[in-house]
Amino acid sequence: MPSPRRPLISGNWKMHHNHFEAIQTVQKLSYRLTNDDYEAVDVSVHPPFTDIRSIQTLLQSENIPIALGAQHCHFEEKGAFTGEVAPSMLAKLDVTYVIAGHSERREVFGEDDEMVNKKVRAILKAEMTPILCVGETLDERDAGGTDDKVSGQVRAGLAGVKKEQVAGLVIAYEPIWAIGTGRTATPDDAQTTCAVVRATVADAFGADAAAAVRIQYGGSVKPGNAGDLMAQPDIDGALVGGASLDADEFARIVQWRMGD
Ligand code: PEP
Repeated sequence: MPSPRRPLISGNWKMHHNHFEAIQTVQKLSYRLTNDDYEAVDVSVHPPFTDIRSIQTLLQSENIPIALGAQHCHFEEKGAFTGEVAPSMLAKLDVTYVIAGHSERREVFGEDDEMVNKKVRAILKAEMTPILCVGETLDERDAGGTDDKVSGQVRAGLAGVKKEQVAGLVIAYEPIWAIGTGRTATPDDAQTTCAVVRATVADAFGADAAAAVRIQYGGSVKPGNAGDLMAQPDIDGALVGGASLDADEFARIVQWRMGD
């Protein structure tokens, strides 16, 4: 039976592309993508904060149906949080998706499950869609701890969220050892863990929420492996880092249906 969930392919640019480069990349991407692509797939780009206003203007002025995303936000609405950005500020810029708990934020900037949960709830409150990232380290994987780590992060990240809200959000399973390393989980392994994510949502929020929540795989997704990953029943999309910086490469991932 075909999946009821619309695929979502998201490009996380991390700290790459100034606003001029960002505009060029989105323009090139829009030349490559077709109406058929937009009918079949939701596409989002997540540039650095300094690019967001420029990309918002470009998408709106040229009617490009790519969704605008952010990589991060704070969970408070305002206050003495030097350097941070509030969810409502992103919503005002027509941001649709906000990544919460990317492993680089957890590992480099010390974000823990509690902070990630506050962010998820703040993003929902501002009427945007969180992309909650979960994933294990290589040591955790080698010790057989993948399922516990991932299901624990899902439960903690979604604590206090209503089941109707869970149904509309996105969870990205990103094994940390596969991010930016060129190593990808095999499609079977990725499927197994994405199924654990879905089973965890079912257990905590019920079967309907689990059937509706979209689960992305992330970790060195490239044009050559996107098709096999996207063919898995519990994988509804991809969170793409390095390969999303190049418009041609990213477009080929969005067009995985056509084969590479
Ligand atoms: C990411 O940034 O979330 C990511 C998965 O990066 P990469 O595709 O480069 O592994």
